[in-house]
Amino acid sequence: MPNPKPTPITNSINWPATLMLALTSLPVVTVLPWYLWTHEVSAAAWICGALLLASNGLSITAGYHRLWAHRAYSAHPALKWLYAIFGGMAVQNSILIWATGHRAHHRHVDDIDHDPYSAKRGLWFSHIGWMLRDYPSNRLDFSRVPDLLDDKVVAFQHRHYLWFAFGTNFAIPVALGLLFHDIWGFVLVAGLLRLVLSHHFTFFINSLAHAWGRQPFTNLNTARDNDFLALFTWGEGYHNYHHLFQWDYRNGIRWWQYDPTKWLIASCAWLGLAKDLKRVPDFKVQRARITRQFERAREALASSRPHSRLLTLQTQLETEWQQFTETVAHWTALQSEKLSDAKLQMQDKWEHSEIRRRLQMHAIERSLRIQRRRVQSLRRSLMAECVPV
Ligand SMILES: [Zn+2]
Ligand SMILES: [Zn+2]
Repeated sequence: MPNPKPTPITNSINWPATLMLALTSLPVVTVLPWYLWTHEVSAAAWICGALLLASNGLSITAGYHRLWAHRAYSAHPALKWLYAIFGGMAVQNSILIWATGHRAHHRHVDDIDHDPYSAKRGLWFSHIGWMLRDYPSNRLDFSRVPDLLDDKVVAFQHRHYLWFAFGTNFAIPVALGLLFHDIWGFVLVAGLLRLVLSHHFTFFINSLAHAWGRQPFTNLNTARDNDFLALFTWGEGYHNYHHLFQWDYRNGIRWWQYDPTKWLIASCAWLGLAKDLKRVPDFKVQRARITRQFERAREALASSRPHSRLLTLQTQLETEWQQFTETVAHWTALQSEKLSDAKLQMQDKWEHSEIRRRLQMHAIERSLRIQRRRVQSLRRSLMAECVPV
């Protein structure tokens, strides 16, 4: 339950972050337009800028976020170093600070005193304002992240973070500029513009992805699913799903949902650079979606004046609910049977019963998917029949 009142703003300005954000943004809105108007920037600068933008963004989403903050899979050290270098280049602090803060965001989501970028403190605050002052909600407790402290790549990057951030941002654009004989084009486009875009694309996840979109999985927090936002955030726009199932390596779970971070992780697994990819069982996904459909249908019923057509739909809804609870009970029974069979350690018997269980679980998942579509159309009919009180 979020606190009713935020901590008063008596906090001093966080000068390093404020200056960094101001000194990178100002030239992008002043010098860059003038330069583009008066000079020609090489195609190489635009192409390298786009490639660096993608490598920075994906190192944050696949590395900082899904690997280190959520442990959604394990990665080969070579991949970790790539994430540490190109994630450092995104200048969003060290992996240790970023992932610790993000775990606090999930643990205290929306709490105005403990979520570092609580959406309940407004769009500006959750987007960028939280970084501009030393708020108590920004104080981190590293004793809660022993796994991160034990990670050699995380510890090294944290100790030498300024080299990772400054070194990459100066050396890479300048070296490429010298190579392609377009230093200023590279500094402005592949250096500054790329960095500012990379910043705001990530910041959108804390601001817009908590304010704009649908809530198909849960309404217990402000997180939203938004296909449009996924285009800019390397697939992190499916934030409602992510807040319910944070340890899943996917955010967009359907094959057609734009989640390049998920495709990158799956490709790395195929190449042997990632393993133990965690996925939420389809049953749990369907259960969450149907529960949400029932909630919305009941909200519609509660807001309407009763009439005969509505009462018929209500009866149908209760029948569906009955069937749903029975399906969930059946699934739970299969799960406990699996556990007790495993304890018996009778290999032959276990394998035989496991095959039977898997078949039953697949059948349950299929029936839940069909029921979800039925409940969805029932909810739509209910909403169409509503007569406001
Ligand atoms: Zn969030
Ligand atoms: Zn997260």
